[in-house]
Amino acid sequence: MQKNHYHAVIVGAGLAGTCSVLALLKQFTSRGLKLAVLDKQDVLTPQAGNGADSRAIALSKSTYQSLLNWVDHAKLSLISEPILDIEVSEAGSAASSFLNSNKREGPYGYVVTAADLQTLFLQTLSESALSQSITWYSPDELIDYTADEQEVELTLNKSGRISCDYLLACDGSHSQVRQLAQLPVQTEGFDQSALTAIITVSDNPFSGRAYERFCETGPLALLPLKQPDQFALVWCLPPAQLATFKQKSAAAQINSLHTVLGYRAGRIRTIRLGATYPLNSYWMPQAYCQRTLFLANACHTLHPVAGQGFNLAVRDILAACQLLDNSKSVNRLTWRAADVVAYHQRRQQDILVTRQATEFLVRCFSNNYQPLRLLRNIGLCGLQIAPPLKQAMTHFAMGYRTK
Ligand SMILES: Cc1cc2nc3c(=O)[nH]c(=O)nc-3n(C[C@H](O)[C@H](O)[C@H](O)COP(=O)(O)OP(=O)(O)OC[C@H]3O[C@@H](n4cnc5c(N)ncnc54)[C@H](O)[C@@H]3O)c2cc1C
Repeated sequence: MQKNHYHAVIVGAGLAGTCSVLALLKQFTSRGLKLAVLDKQDVLTPQAGNGADSRAIALSKSTYQSLLNWVDHAKLSLISEPILDIEVSEAGSAASSFLNSNKREGPYGYVVTAADLQTLFLQTLSESALSQSITWYSPDELIDYTADEQEVELTLNKSGRISCDYLLACDGSHSQVRQLAQLPVQTEGFDQSALTAIITVSDNPFSGRAYERFCETGPLALLPLKQPDQFALVWCLPPAQLATFKQKSAAAQINSLHTVLGYRAGRIRTIRLGATYPLNSYWMPQAYCQRTLFLANACHTLHPVAGQGFNLAVRDILAACQLLDNSKSVNRLTWRAADVVAYHQRRQQDILVTRQATEFLVRCFSNNYQPLRLLRNIGLCGLQIAPPLKQAMTHFAMGYRTK
């Protein structure tokens, strides 16, 4: 039986996979690309549980600008709430710092729920004139994969064998492609899980303000949502404490949150718990092999403290599209061997800096050693009174990188 051949197969249709498909179709418009997308979950049936969920994603400004090239502006703005400033503080200390956007640069970033963003990506793909260029293998699962100089061959659980010129592995932290390619991965546990929830508040004193609060047990973030007086909560806690928190009544949960947060974001009225995530970091020292690139969580999974995972993924996607756009000829994706090495070096630099900054925050603020606490307070106050440092940090978190 003849197998189907594609210019590229994208394994994994989470946020990174669907976003990669959009970016490829946009970049290679009118070049007759044939793409296949594979996911073990049924991503095309709404609410089928496709990996996207009620977790909120803080989009840096540069990510938001990239998304505007791929999805309709009005539809994106309908689901995203601008972040005008961020209060960073530490529980048990009076010190805090504010990262503010300014009129010239506009909002600091935007908040969307992962579910809304995934729906928008899938809708855009299905409505696009290029939707005929995509074959969906969903639900189906990758069970084998081989790659040589000519092509990549995949064996799928239900659909049998397919092949492609290039493969983009967007299949998440436990990437099956990575395992089949036998590429190494470095893993580190944080002994924390992330609890997500949606809270509603009254008397919110600052519209558009996000909060990052470092507590003894782990960081807590409140991100403003599109719906008035709603915030998305991400609270990183040791798993046992998280389990205890979940067993409490809603009123007791709200009380515990006020103990940690105070009333800086208003009075919490309701809380709706979402999914919880065990937190580990993963990093591939080599994120490519024969005709295959590893993107997003498949090659770097970060602690969510600084909200950088998807933002980093979008920079992976932009770089991958550029790499594959070498032939400038109709109907082809190609990369040059020398270019893939340079691509990888540039991506690894960005990933390393973002990982290190993220892990520094987790380690530094989860340590209760008294002199370190003092240094942290000085750091938070210093940030507040040192505009150049603050400006540099704000630009970093907005997703801008110097080349
Ligand atoms: C609590 C929390 C908060 C976060 N907040 C932020 C934030 O504010 N800002 C930010 O930038 N990032 C944030 N992130 C990170 C962000 O969610 C991820 O980086 C982003 O969703 C990219 O994920 P992905 O698509 O690479 O992987 P996944 O979402 O894991 O998707 C992988 C897909 O691959 C499929 N798959 C897996 N194996 C196979 C297989 N063998 N065959 C076929 N399909 C397969 C899965 O079904 C899934 O659909 C946060 C993460 C967490 C946990």
